[in-house]
Amino acid sequence: MATNWGSLLQNEQQLEELARQAVDRALAEGVLLRTSQEPTSSEVVSYAPFTLFPSLVPSALLEQAYAVQMDFNLLVDAVSQNAAFLEQTLSSTIKQDDFTARLFDIHKQVLKEGIAQTVFLGLNRSDYMFQRSTDGSPALKQIEINTISASFGGLASRTPAVHRHVLSVLSKTKEAGKILSNNPSKGLALGIAKAWELYGSTNALVLLIAQEKERNIFDQRAIENELLARNIHVIRRTFEDISEKGSLDQDRRLFNWEARLLLERSCAAKCPDIATQLAGTKKVQQELSRPGMLEMLLPGQPEAVARLRATFAGLYSLDMGEEGDQAIAKALAAPSRFVLKPQREGGGNNLYGEEMVQALKQLKDSEERASYILMEKIEPEPFENCLLRPGSPAQVVQCISELGIFGVYVRQEKTLVMNKHVGHLLRTKAIEHADGGVAAGVAVLDNPYPV
Ligand code: ADP
Ligand code: MG
Repeated sequence: MATNWGSLLQNEQQLEELARQAVDRALAEGVLLRTSQEPTSSEVVSYAPFTLFPSLVPSALLEQAYAVQMDFNLLVDAVSQNAAFLEQTLSSTIKQDDFTARLFDIHKQVLKEGIAQTVFLGLNRSDYMFQRSTDGSPALKQIEINTISASFGGLASRTPAVHRHVLSVLSKTKEAGKILSNNPSKGLALGIAKAWELYGSTNALVLLIAQEKERNIFDQRAIENELLARNIHVIRRTFEDISEKGSLDQDRRLFNWEARLLLERSCAAKCPDIATQLAGTKKVQQELSRPGMLEMLLPGQPEAVARLRATFAGLYSLDMGEEGDQAIAKALAAPSRFVLKPQREGGGNNLYGEEMVQALKQLKDSEERASYILMEKIEPEPFENCLLRPGSPAQVVQCISELGIFGVYVRQEKTLVMNKHVGHLLRTKAIEHADGGVAAGVAVLDNPYPV
């Protein structure tokens, strides 16, 4: 993809002045993060990193991503209700991956007791990259769907004003008008409000479970503010507040399983409940790409199935056996075409290139390989943009983008009462970073400039 901003990106002095204006507007709009030095305090804050210019995205791909979002909502909801599918899909993974196994144990325990909750709320974000193809037209390929930690809906509601400002300073009024309005925080809040309403008690509170050190609090506050405007009150707690007994997960992070079980057994409308969290695992994503799986989960909906399948990249199981052996052989033969993914969220866990080769050689003969999946590597066409980060000079670099679409659904017992897409998030990063999002300090916030 070419950029509209080519000559502007060459003029260093103009970039510096524009960057100053953009940063001031970002601060004024509330595109904020707490600092890494003071992650528990809002006394000193800075702007969340962002691109100086919006990045060009083909309108057709934006439309395609929006059009498939309700299908993804339905699919996640169907998977979360299909205990047999989850059990079969995750059977090899839970033998090797302690985190997934613990989630699965709670899932089983709650199923045995009978699920107490009657209202189900899904807030998710499906992420894509634009695969360049031989005929030059890019294709929309899903990276993953996030059913937990689907963040940046709040800040993404505030960035369009910043890019409009930059283009207005340049007297590019027509271009400024093309930046799409975006308000995921409102849409996400409407989903929470619907679940709250169906829960049926005016005294009910929304419990937001956050980390103690939460740099991204302003993103979350945007949703809290929307709820308060509807007279719905939010309280914030950590897992440790909920239960005093903590334990360490295998990455030695404190993860409180007691609290998670306690919550899961309650009749509160969880977001996500454990089954929905499991539906968002990378292993489930990989199994969904098998022929016949979408048809089984969404019977009688061939159009939805076709829309979903069109966004799938190559996904390969690494379970012991011939199929997994073949996948490993393919990846070893052409390492630049694959990504190795463990069952983790949050960026920085995937393996590429030589690191992937070393890991595959080591895992090859071990059952442990079942805790990973292999994925085709998406290769978007790089373009130039200027990245703005607190503490660093404005930097013009070769970039690639990742588009996320926010989805919301609410189900009461067996009836779906809401199913919507509620906005987008574009994140852009320098091409030298294979992995990682905004929270990991790699990608920055952006806006699609539809072309
Ligand atoms: P996480 O749960 O850590 O966010 P992701 O699957 O989203 O896991 O991967 C993290 C990042 O790695 C993505 O944001 C993307 O930049 C990169 N990535 C993941 N899968 C691929 C892929 N198949 N091709 C190219 N890049 C990928
Ligand atoms: Mg991700």
